[in-house]
Amino acid sequence: MDCLFCKIAAGEIPSTKVYEDDKLLAFKDINPQAPVHILIIPKEHFDSVDALDEKSAPIVGDIMLVAKKIAAEQGLKDGYRIITNIGENGGQTVKHLHFHILGGVKLSEKMC
Ligand code: AMP
Ligand code: ZN
Repeated sequence: MDCLFCKIAAGEIPSTKVYEDDKLLAFKDINPQAPVHILIIPKEHFDSVDALDEKSAPIVGDIMLVAKKIAAEQGLKDGYRIITNIGENGGQTVKHLHFHILGGVKLSEKMC
């Protein structure tokens, strides 16, 4: 499949990795929108949250625990934000499930 994040997961396109295990990869966003901007992806391809089902959805719990660990490692003790965009109106540009970790600054209170 011609998917940017599948290629990053496979090591075919370089990334600045901050975490990796057998199921997940986290790397720095190429166009950071906060002092800390990291993406967490499952290595398995899912288009978005919309593609999850009862069998695959537990991966989101795994991602949350890794997000928490990364946030601690990055020193985000005063808080941070986790975002996942879904589809056209959600602003999703890469169609491989990913969660943004944003922090290192007081983030806007606006959600959209
Ligand atoms: P979204 O708009 O939620 O689909 O987010 C996609 C994110 O992927 C954006 O924040 C991009 O800056 C980021 N991105 C795109 N290409 C790369 C890349 N090669 N390495 C790291 N991040 C990327
Ligand atoms: Zn993919």
